[in-house]
Amino acid sequence: MSISRKRVDAAAVSASLLLCLAPGAAPTSAAPGDPGNPRFAEGEPGVGDPYFPLAGNGGIDVQRYDLQIDYEPPAEGAELVGQIDGRAAITLVPTKDLASFHLDFRDLEVESVTVNGKRARYTHENTELEISPRPKLREGRSTEVVIEYVGATTRPEDVEGALYGWVTTADGAMVVSEPDGSPTWYPVNDHPTDKASYTFEVTVPEGLVAVANGELVGESTSEGRTTWSWDAPDPMASYLVTSTIGNFELSTTSAGDGTPIIDAVDKDLDPSASQSLALVPEMMAFFSERYGDYPFTTYGGIVDDDSVGYALETQTRSFYSEVAREGTVAHELGHQWMGNHVSPQEWDDIWLNESWATYSTWQWDEKQGRASAQESYEKVLAIPEGDPFWDVVIADPGATNLFAGAVYDRGAATLHALRNEIGDEAFFALAQTWVERYGGGTASTADFIALAEEVSGQDLETLFNVWISTPARPNV
Ligand SMILES: [Zn+2]
Repeated sequence: MSISRKRVDAAAVSASLLLCLAPGAAPTSAAPGDPGNPRFAEGEPGVGDPYFPLAGNGGIDVQRYDLQIDYEPPAEGAELVGQIDGRAAITLVPTKDLASFHLDFRDLEVESVTVNGKRARYTHENTELEISPRPKLREGRSTEVVIEYVGATTRPEDVEGALYGWVTTADGAMVVSEPDGSPTWYPVNDHPTDKASYTFEVTVPEGLVAVANGELVGESTSEGRTTWSWDAPDPMASYLVTSTIGNFELSTTSAGDGTPIIDAVDKDLDPSASQSLALVPEMMAFFSERYGDYPFTTYGGIVDDDSVGYALETQTRSFYSEVAREGTVAHELGHQWMGNHVSPQEWDDIWLNESWATYSTWQWDEKQGRASAQESYEKVLAIPEGDPFWDVVIADPGATNLFAGAVYDRGAATLHALRNEIGDEAFFALAQTWVERYGGGTASTADFIALAEEVSGQDLETLFNVWISTPARPNV
């Protein structure tokens, strides 16, 4: 939903170029509908993220996804293949006049595409679904695209070989898509720079529970199938969208500020696996003091009895594999401000997510009387010079190194070094201003450095250069 600062700047530049050229240029005579009319562009197949060039798409700004998913999990004892019958209604606004545009979609089979109620031509190759609507689309006019699709679900892997996307399980599916796994289950403008709101209607065999982001708005059963309806109005990056299905027990409580908390815990797990979720209201109050009010309408956790090998801060409903440990619960809650409300402008800005989330755990540990943040920082600095840990340039770790340990721990140590440099008052003013200024959208490493300098009044170039851009242990 938000338009990135970079895109705004690019648009401003091209607009001023046009203005410069206009006085001497011949007026364009092509009329709308003219086949040679260059005014109707082809939307780009990617937004140009250096790590994932085909992620996201040019020329469109999605406002809302209404997803209807009918899912059949694997039969008992059968191989882990499910069946999706899906319908995605996508409300978008063209950011220029378009003859065609792309969405990211893979693995499943498109059955039909309509644009504003009219059948549209399309091609679907690899990750790109290209749609050519007639009439062509006008810039700024709200457009509804409906895509119906079917197919078998498997267990997809990301560029590092980790399970992600729609991961089929024995009792349903684990849906966790960072960084580019959402196209495994719905057609999407798959980049954090195009946040949108979502609704979900997920139909599963009676007895199973489908857990998505946001608020539970209804549940109805007929002929042995239950439809779970969820509403997630807060702008959300696509990698944070979930629709996890399993043998869950739902429970609802509320945080001190009234935020409803809906947890989904697999009934097959020992109660100890989810006991740290009870700390969430206290953690939320603590982080709210430091980062500003909790930014979304709901929260909660999903603890599944299967594993993708990691936890994910799926927006408003963090996902945990098999167990929700206290430090991880603090980490994923910290992400709701840092990563979810303020999201990375490009994937090379990932350290902004993971540094703050890791630093959230450091602060929580300190509050609970365990290691102080200073002690956690010193532990990182105790990693000897020459250790490969220090080789990672965390401001540009590479697409296959997004989740390297250094992105987390060196990132958190960077924040602590910054706090030591500018003092607590400026540091927490920075955290809150960061969330206020960029919440609901995205921001870059350059934005963060600029804001840290603005808030502190200090020149921080050397500090950041040493900590995030140099493949060596900082000499402190
Ligand atoms: Zn994280």
